[in-house]
Amino acid sequence: MNTPVEQFREDATRVAADEQHRRLIQGALGKYYVARDRQVGRFQDWQSARQAAAETKWEAVNHLDQHLVSFAEKLEARGGKVFWANNSAEARDYILKICREKKARCIVKSKAMTAEEIHLNAALEKDGYEVVESDLGEYIVQLRKEAPYHFVFPAMHLSRGDIRELFDREIGNVKSDNPEDLTMVARRVLRKKYCEADIGISGANFAIAETGMISITENEGNARLTTSLPRVHIAVMGIEKVLPRLEDLALFLPMLGTAGAGQAITCYNSMIGGPRQPGECDGPEEFHVVLLDNHRTRLLADPEQRDALHCIRCGACLNVCPIFKNIGGHSYGTTYQGPIGSVITPHFRGLQDWKHLSNASSLCGACTSACPVKIDIHHHLLHNRRNAATQKPRWWEKLAYKIAAGVLNWPEFYAFATAVGRVMQKFHPLVKGSVLDPARAWTKTRELPQVAPQSFRDYWRARERKP
Ligand code: SF4
Repeated sequence: MNTPVEQFREDATRVAADEQHRRLIQGALGKYYVARDRQVGRFQDWQSARQAAAETKWEAVNHLDQHLVSFAEKLEARGGKVFWANNSAEARDYILKICREKKARCIVKSKAMTAEEIHLNAALEKDGYEVVESDLGEYIVQLRKEAPYHFVFPAMHLSRGDIRELFDREIGNVKSDNPEDLTMVARRVLRKKYCEADIGISGANFAIAETGMISITENEGNARLTTSLPRVHIAVMGIEKVLPRLEDLALFLPMLGTAGAGQAITCYNSMIGGPRQPGECDGPEEFHVVLLDNHRTRLLADPEQRDALHCIRCGACLNVCPIFKNIGGHSYGTTYQGPIGSVITPHFRGLQDWKHLSNASSLCGACTSACPVKIDIHHHLLHNRRNAATQKPRWWEKLAYKIAAGVLNWPEFYAFATAVGRVMQKFHPLVKGSVLDPARAWTKTRELPQVAPQSFRDYWRARERKP
C-alpha cells in the first residue's frame, strides 16, 4: 500500500503526461475564464466586493461560537434538529441511526463535500442502503466508482463520449452523446429515485445565524427535490459555513455564482429553515442538520491560518492553479483538491502525511488573486511548509541550508563557488542522468538552470574600469 506522498507522485506523474486530459481541462477552463470575467465586469467594483466578503467571513468565523448557537436555536424553534459532530465517526453514526430508525431503504443525496469528507456513502452502502447521487456530475462519478474530480465540477475530466459510453454500459441503450440527451437519460433514472427515497441528504452552502436557515445553491433543481420529497432531510455542513445575517447572501450568492461557474447567480437558490410546518404542502416531516467540526476548531485555534475557514468552496482557486491543471483533481487524493485543499488537508488529516501537497505549488499566487474572500492561500502553503519543517526537521535539509547560509554570508566564497559552478556546468552534459550526476532527480524532467556567464559583481567591476 502506497503512502499518500508515493501515491501522489505516481498519479501526478501519470496525469501530467496525459495530453487528452490536458486538452479536456484546458477546454473546460477556457470557457470558464471568459464567463467569469464577464460576470466580474458586472459587479460595480469586484475588489470592494471581495473586501466586503472577506470582512463578513472574518466576523462570522471570529464569532463562530455565538453565530452557531444562534443558528441552532432558531432552527430548533421551528422543529429542526441539530447534531454537533466532533468528527467523521460521530457524524456518520448519527446519520446511520436516523436511517435505521426510519427503516430507510433508498437514500438520495445532492452534492455535499462534507459527506465526501466523512465517507458517508461507503458507510451507508456498507449498512445495506441504496444511495443515489442526484447531482448530474456526482451521479456520473458515482457510476464510475470514482471520487469527485473537482468540488464544483465533479466530472470535469470526462468527455461527452466518455459519459455516453458509461451510461450505455450502466443504464443501457444510450446512443447519443448530445449533452441534452445525456441529461435526459440521467433525469429518467433520478426522477424515480426521488419518489422512492425515504431520506434526502444534502450539504449547505451557507447557514444564516440570524434566521436559523441553510442556503443551498445549485443549477439542476436536484437539491430542491432531494430536500423536499423524501420524508426526512439531513443536511451535513462544516461549522465554518455560517454567515451572520440573511442580507449577507445578497453579496455571497452572486459572488459564489461568479467565482464558481461564471454565472450571475446559480439557477436555484433554496432557503430551508425547518421541517414542513402546519398548513404547508411541501417539505420533509423531519429536518436534521449535522454541524461538523472534524478538526475545523483546530484550524480556528491557529490565528495565522484561521482565514482558511473563510472558504466558500467556489473552486476558483482550482480553476486558475497551474498545478491543478496539470495533475488533475484525483491526484491530490483528498476530498478538497487544489490550492485550498493543499492548505486545509494537512490540518484535517495530519501535517506530516499531507505536507507534500503544500510543496506541490509554484507559489505564483494566482489562487490568492482569484479567491473571492481574499484568503492568503499561497502564503498558507508556505506556512504549512515551515510548520512541517519545524515539527520534524530533516537532518540533510538542515545541513543544506546551513551550508547555503554560510556561502551566502561570505561574499568571497560565494564568488568562488559561482566560478566553480560556471566551470562545472560545462561538464554536466557528460554525466547528465547518470549516477555521477548530483542533480539527476531534477534533470530527469527539467533542464538545470545555467549559471550566468558573468556575475553581477564582475559586470560591475568591468563597468567601473571603463573610462
Ligand atoms: S479558497 Fe477561495 S477561491 Fe478557493 S475555493 Fe475557497 S473561496 Fe474559492
